[in-house]
Amino acid sequence: MNSGYKILVVCVLSVGLLVAGCAQGLIDLGDSLSTFGDGLYSLGSCLSPLEPIELNEVFGKAPVIAWADGMTEITDAAQPDVQAFLDEKLGEDVTPIDYRSLRFQQIGPLSRGEVIRVEAMSDVVYRVALYDADYKLIPAGSLHDFTGQRRTLEIPIVRDTPAGYLRLDLRFLSETNQPMIRLTRLGVVSRPEPREQTVMLNFGGQEDVIFRSGYLIPARVGTIDDPVIRQIAASQFRSVYAPYNLTVLTDADPPPPEPFSVIYIGPAELSTYNYGLAEFIDSRNAYPDDIAVVDTNQPALDIARLLGSETFGRAIAMIAAHEMGHLLGLEHVSDPDALMTGAQCQGTGADVERMLRRQLKRAPIILAVVDLQQWVVGYQDAAAELLGTVGAAIVTGTPND
Ligand SMILES: [Zn+2]
Repeated sequence: MNSGYKILVVCVLSVGLLVAGCAQGLIDLGDSLSTFGDGLYSLGSCLSPLEPIELNEVFGKAPVIAWADGMTEITDAAQPDVQAFLDEKLGEDVTPIDYRSLRFQQIGPLSRGEVIRVEAMSDVVYRVALYDADYKLIPAGSLHDFTGQRRTLEIPIVRDTPAGYLRLDLRFLSETNQPMIRLTRLGVVSRPEPREQTVMLNFGGQEDVIFRSGYLIPARVGTIDDPVIRQIAASQFRSVYAPYNLTVLTDADPPPPEPFSVIYIGPAELSTYNYGLAEFIDSRNAYPDDIAVVDTNQPALDIARLLGSETFGRAIAMIAAHEMGHLLGLEHVSDPDALMTGAQCQGTGADVERMLRRQLKRAPIILAVVDLQQWVVGYQDAAAELLGTVGAAIVTGTPND
């Protein structure tokens, strides 16, 4: 079995020194954990990004795609200008392996409402991302495919842009294993209306937690028995998502008839540093029944635990809220004060409070860390994205009544 299709979101907490760095991982997703590597934990770099390389510099050197009848195919043709740029920017002592798997393409002007279909015909391509002329990521999620076959992604263009830029992240590249991508312009397709979503916070334990990708997370999540922790966690989680049309239940509630997401919260013994895992980044909430896990056993949470049930409950709620963001299509950002932070941060125990203040906000997306350098590859406006996906909270009841 090709391990390249493990689709997983990994959250990392480097503590004693707190901060939730949530490094999204492994294969399918953006800032892959493997590019961070274990050594990253010692960097503590999220508070002082080092010489970000803006996308405009590299995209300007990318080759231009030629469309034929609204279609084009991309293979691994040489990108000498891009390569020369990276060589110069990143310095001679950077191992090429860190960036040789990146490809950049210019794809010309795009119009609001049209949809670009991306088909990845080889497993070398594990991620495709499209940016507009302002180098802002056009949300589209990942190349989900649970059978390991051809993966298709349809990217809706949300505004006119004089230029689109494509980034490919490759894996397992070799002489015999080459990337193959087909792009097709589908014309104008209207974006689906926002759709409400229900999530159940499950504190009651679960014996068999299995991700669709087949990824072997710990199959068993234990229970949280403290009613204060349960209540505070649910309350904090609800407050984070209060502006949005997300119904939050717990395992004390009867399961709703409609499909719903589940976040299993309890001692799960995820691997060290992973204190939460989401099934995948579910772009625009295509899968209303996806799942995530929060591991309350992580040593990373010891400080919060020492501060009492209330702080602990709030802390695990923030982790759950981060995972929920992934289940609703949000990617990692680099701002340590953003709920969707994927940066590795360090600090002191006082950072528990900082973690509890994290928000769903507009923030830069980091592609990767290469030799201490971070790349800003776009921006994610988490609140706007959620409003477009699930819509605004519906106020029930009549005031003054
Ligand atoms: Zn994450």
